[in-house]
Amino acid sequence: MRLDRLRLRGFRNYRELDADFVPGVNLILGDNAQGKTNLLEAICYLSTGRAFRTRKEAELLRFGADFADLEGEIFSQGREQTLRAVLFAGKRPRQLYLNGVKEKSFGKLQGLLTTVLFCPEDLLVLKSGAAARRRLLDSALCQLRPGYDRALTEYNRLLEQKSAILRQWKEYPAWADALPEFNLRMAQVGAVLIGYRANYLVKLDRCTARYHREFSGGAEDLRLSYKTVSTIDNPLAPRQELEQRILEHQEAHLRAELESGQCLTGPHKDDFDVVLDEISLKAFGSQGQTRTAAISLKLAEREIFRDDTGEEPVLLLDDVLSELDARRQDFVLNQIKTGQVFITCCETDRLTEIGAVTIIQNGKKIQAPLVPPV
Ligand code: ATP
Ligand code: MG
Repeated sequence: MRLDRLRLRGFRNYRELDADFVPGVNLILGDNAQGKTNLLEAICYLSTGRAFRTRKEAELLRFGADFADLEGEIFSQGREQTLRAVLFAGKRPRQLYLNGVKEKSFGKLQGLLTTVLFCPEDLLVLKSGAAARRRLLDSALCQLRPGYDRALTEYNRLLEQKSAILRQWKEYPAWADALPEFNLRMAQVGAVLIGYRANYLVKLDRCTARYHREFSGGAEDLRLSYKTVSTIDNPLAPRQELEQRILEHQEAHLRAELESGQCLTGPHKDDFDVVLDEISLKAFGSQGQTRTAAISLKLAEREIFRDDTGEEPVLLLDDVLSELDARRQDFVLNQIKTGQVFITCCETDRLTEIGAVTIIQNGKKIQAPLVPPV
């Protein structure tokens, strides 16, 4: 799987970009604030139908522009294909095209260009709040499982509505009558999310542990374990059982929810624990250990994508290499010998030798890619 060409019109700080890429390592170089991350964001958008830095699509349009047009020529499922998204200012919905044919939703485009993104915030993901770790699970599962994507969208909508009821039921007591219905549906959809997450974490745990062992020269043992609604003792249990356990948890917390005005129960509170040699990484891990573990986690994500889809996902490394010391850089670079990779970076240094270079300056490409070294 690879992206051969990207065409942008009116996207972020790009008025117009036409760029070709090589199947191996593509280095995107440029000073700060020139548009390197914006370029990766465009690739991600064509891959997932979402922007990773914002929920507001309007922010993706170049300031003052009426529309943004993104087109990627990709090689996927054994043939060349074209993905295109046109976003409009105001309320007009986006238009999506697959191979020139208009599609109603992102469904048909989903999975054609899978990407694994690794950015500096990901290096801290094991130290930060649970939301960052949920995002990591969500972004992987939304790409791998269309059913998960649909369930998550519905769950988030229900959560928003239930939260609004809980916030305001004292003013409008009749609203509280709708809570049982919300709870039931949230238990049903929540059970779907938990099932997918539990299965994914089994694979992620196994694979991350292997990378981490290799990385630490066999010295450290890293384990991930899923933490979800406390009444669920086996998150791999059948869906109906999960649903039942969520309903029990909701019932036990109903009063607390009404009193606090917040939705306290459900998989929107999920997390996973990371244990290094039987000690919590979050509480006690050193900075180096946390980074190493985060790298292992990302490499594991890439491997799971490859096993699952049969194709190597495109790896997007936004500024991470410059955050790593030489030993960790080497570990990452040694692991990415296969597949297509986009690496953004400010310094040229030794990195320029590893791939074709695209230089970005103020939303423009100023030099055609060099031929990569053999
Ligand atoms: P760094 O090395 O600091 O990470 P970068 O090259 O990755 O920099 P980007 O984040 O890609 O930089 O681009 C940032 C620039 O894009 C900023 O100058 C910002 O003002 C501009 N920008 C962001 N959104 C828009 C938009 N909608 N329209 C026009 N310009 C935008
Ligand atoms: Mg950047």
